[in-house]
Amino acid sequence: MHRYTDETERLAEAIMAYTTHRLRMDPVPLDGPKSPAELTALAGQTITADGLGGEAALKLFADVLAPACISVDHPRYLSFIPAAPTEAAFLFDLVCGASSIYGGSWLEGAGAVFAENQALRFVADLVGLPAGAGGVFVPGGTHGNLSALVTARHNARGRRIVDRPARWKVVATAETHSSVRHAAEVMDIDFVGVETDAEGRLRGAALRAAIDAAGDGVFAVVATAGTTNFGTVDRLDEIADVCAELGVWLHVDGAYGGAALCAPTVRHRFAGIDRCDSFIVDPHKWFYAPFDCCALLYREPHLARAAHTQKAGYLEVLETNGEWNPSDYAVNLSRRARGLPFWFSLATHGTRAYTTAIERTLEVARAAAADIRGRDYVELLQEPDLSVVVFRRLGWTPDDYARWAQSLMQANFAFVMPTVHDGETVTRFAIINPRTTEADLAAILDTMA
Ligand SMILES: *Cc1c(COP(=O)(O)O)cnc(C)c1O
Repeated sequence: MHRYTDETERLAEAIMAYTTHRLRMDPVPLDGPKSPAELTALAGQTITADGLGGEAALKLFADVLAPACISVDHPRYLSFIPAAPTEAAFLFDLVCGASSIYGGSWLEGAGAVFAENQALRFVADLVGLPAGAGGVFVPGGTHGNLSALVTARHNARGRRIVDRPARWKVVATAETHSSVRHAAEVMDIDFVGVETDAEGRLRGAALRAAIDAAGDGVFAVVATAGTTNFGTVDRLDEIADVCAELGVWLHVDGAYGGAALCAPTVRHRFAGIDRCDSFIVDPHKWFYAPFDCCALLYREPHLARAAHTQKAGYLEVLETNGEWNPSDYAVNLSRRARGLPFWFSLATHGTRAYTTAIERTLEVARAAAADIRGRDYVELLQEPDLSVVVFRRLGWTPDDYARWAQSLMQANFAFVMPTVHDGETVTRFAIINPRTTEADLAAILDTMA
């Protein structure tokens, strides 16, 4: 199985044909899940002693397994946070897969790490971080938030060798992504909640009061630049003031919203972001890269190295020349160079194309909000900061939303799941795909009449 034979050649052609076919489809089929019993009936036992052969396995994937996976890049996939990789990013993912690159160290992956670091620099410039900033691409925002908080706590421990608090504490709001609460559990630290203002925004005064009330041990604040449910940007300038004054680490979670830093029409909402200590954005969301890809950046990367560098005799050779080893900046060692598809697309298209694409999605989001305001049977919950539009259908129960969402999916028409806000079931459009049009959203709203 490690020889390139005629059969491998046929398989390579079949795989390229499959891939290009999927890329050409416009739109891609939406598809939807099947039960384990249905999949067992259709696919049967796929792993056998003698193997099915590549072409049969590919056919099984194409006919049975792929249609049981929703196409996250479908223009009417509007739930959670969608994805919409560029064709260039998709294609380069194939190249990465075929290149056997170890992305953990400079020694092994210098060329890839060099390119990844230029992509990270593009993000650091958007944030306004200084020349010394740097980091690593990790699998997702969950991983990025955890790694940043581990660095922040390590830094706080180093500064408080004498008077260590009984409990370390991280401060965030109820709108903060679930991964931050999870990171607190993993790290065995306390999660201190802060009230938001009426629009779900973290403000300086409330933060100051919460930190005062929490007592000793607060080492980090997580501010969100684009909440997952509403796309709201916290008041980063006020938060940065409080963090600077109290000597608390400021981590900004821009997993979804950070990409909008390159959009002039909303750039002002992020004022103060350049004062963060660490930052994440998921290129696999609004920056048009394939899964899985989160850019994690530190203002002072040496603090992350101190927290994350793994030590062992067999690793010493990597740490002698002061070279940039991506594995030193997060909870990871072996890693694929997952920033490369993002880098390749940036290198191919240039950064202006990203501004254009992201502004287009913002324009569609504003049009959707206006469309909702003009219909008497739906109601906006709040004006969108970015590209998430949350609204209610007047008179609907949770069951009505569920039935409606299910029927849209089964008809291969759209994927618009309900969400819950303040105990109320509502629904939302998360718009990041430049292929999503005003007409798509109007057609979906028509089905709620
Ligand atoms: C999506 C998201 C995350 C988690 O990112 P994953 O890549 O899914 O792990 C964290 N924070 C925010 C604000 C998000 O939208």
